[in-house]
Amino acid sequence: MVFVLNFMDIEKKITETIIKYKLMRKSDKVVVALSGGKDSTSVLYILKKLGYDVHGLMIDLYLGEWSDIHKKNMDRFCGEIGVPLTIVDMKKEIGQGICFVKAVLAKKKGLTGCTVCGIVKRWILNRWARKMGADVIVTGHNLDDEAQNVLMNFLKGNIMLGVGQGPATGNGENVGDGFVQRVKPLFFVPEGEILSYARGKKFDILYERCPCALGTYRVDTRGWMREALSDEEKLGIVEGFMESVKGFKRSERKVGKCEVCGEVSRGKICKFCDIVKCI
Ligand code: SF4
Ligand code: ZN
Repeated sequence: MVFVLNFMDIEKKITETIIKYKLMRKSDKVVVALSGGKDSTSVLYILKKLGYDVHGLMIDLYLGEWSDIHKKNMDRFCGEIGVPLTIVDMKKEIGQGICFVKAVLAKKKGLTGCTVCGIVKRWILNRWARKMGADVIVTGHNLDDEAQNVLMNFLKGNIMLGVGQGPATGNGENVGDGFVQRVKPLFFVPEGEILSYARGKKFDILYERCPCALGTYRVDTRGWMREALSDEEKLGIVEGFMESVKGFKRSERKVGKCEVCGEVSRGKICKFCDIVKCI
């Protein structure tokens, strides 16, 4: 059987998710976190097409030629579709590129490189999106990413780590002043569909994964999950999990401000400062 992708189906699925979970309004300033990959590029393109006021925000991670190509691609792509783009220089922002953060700081804290990269990126994105006056930050997480989260938390023996998982991060929990709501319009779109969309639209971008992702727990999980599960089963895992933890809170601790950087934090010191200021 030949699989024919209908571009309209994906755009319709995204529109339904936005409406059902009240992710954004046409009057909102919508900042899209761009990695340069297929997911964030596609969601930027679709939201622009649907008439949202979108702005691109990208972090230069200093991953050599990989980052240079992504920056060039996004600069060209945003110019072509008429979207303003802001590129944040990570070294200017935190004094280090991602390689040092992953190789030295992550090791000191006993964390994986990608966990630390994620914490640093979230900290920078929130700060910059707030500076830009954003109402929401859009990320390109898709259905496969979400199913992986549920399974990885299960395999770690703590499925409750995923409480708050949903198309709007935190699921409406009080997250405090200074936090820009993060939303995921691709939450119910399988990775295979978004890949076909990006290729079908002939987006001139890199389709390979970040070179640092090789050999990580997430990539291993993605590999066997792709072999073992259909898109319907991935959807069942994610929806089943969200239903079973409905009403649970991630933490009883109130969200406040980090004593070091002033950003949103559940503890006295935020995760970013705990890692980056540990040298
Ligand atoms: Fe960062 Fe890991 Fe993602 Fe690469 S794969 S951008 S290192 S989180
Ligand atoms: Zn801090």
